[in-house]
Amino acid sequence: MARVLIVEDEASLARTIAYNLRRQGYDVETASDGERALDLANATRPDMVVLDLMLPGMDGFEVCRQIRRTSAVPVLMLTARDDEIDRVVGLEIGADDYMTKPFSMRELIARVKAMLRRRELLQEEIRHAGAPARDTIEAGELTLSRATRQITLRDQPIRLKPREFDLLEFLMRNRERVYSAEQLLEHVWGDSYTRDTRTVPVHVRGIRRKIEDDPSNPTRVETVRGVGYRFVG
Ligand code: CA
Repeated sequence: MARVLIVEDEASLARTIAYNLRRQGYDVETASDGERALDLANATRPDMVVLDLMLPGMDGFEVCRQIRRTSAVPVLMLTARDDEIDRVVGLEIGADDYMTKPFSMRELIARVKAMLRRRELLQEEIRHAGAPARDTIEAGELTLSRATRQITLRDQPIRLKPREFDLLEFLMRNRERVYSAEQLLEHVWGDSYTRDTRTVPVHVRGIRRKIEDDPSNPTRVETVRGVGYRFVG
């Protein structure tokens, strides 16, 4: 049974989320502030964290940062304001996904399930990763290893967030092919019906900042105007 930690100061919302996740068979803990959340995260080692951004005292960004110091647990961030999305997705705070309030419980459950499934697949893959070298994609000075989830540029390791890695891997595997934002959501996120296509350009920008020599003049992940993106490196 997967353990989910909910961090939300709005008591009725926390209760509703907990109730719905328990009905799905998850083991649920709740915390109403950041300090309690960190204590619980350490004590119970959850498989996933649902984390509200606006909390009394320590905010969700700080809680996420602190969790990330010791754990790679998937974090789903809840934001109340649309204009926080860029910050949540774009900054290096380490959240794996986000949802804007208000959201439906159905959507939340779908996201939680998808994130836990991904985590399971990843752990499975790590267990079975026998020959990392076989699973390497090279493109000039850029190398991506699927088994170790590592990227190097001119032999220097590049740190990508999990979704950025998945997106870059997909584009590199399908080099020269152009994909629309909708198609990339479908292939990389796998749940496009609940999601905003703005997620894609935000992740593309994140990738470019790290792998392009001049991010505003990309030579690896190209924008094909009016169509989408492709990897050409
Ligand atoms: Ca709040």
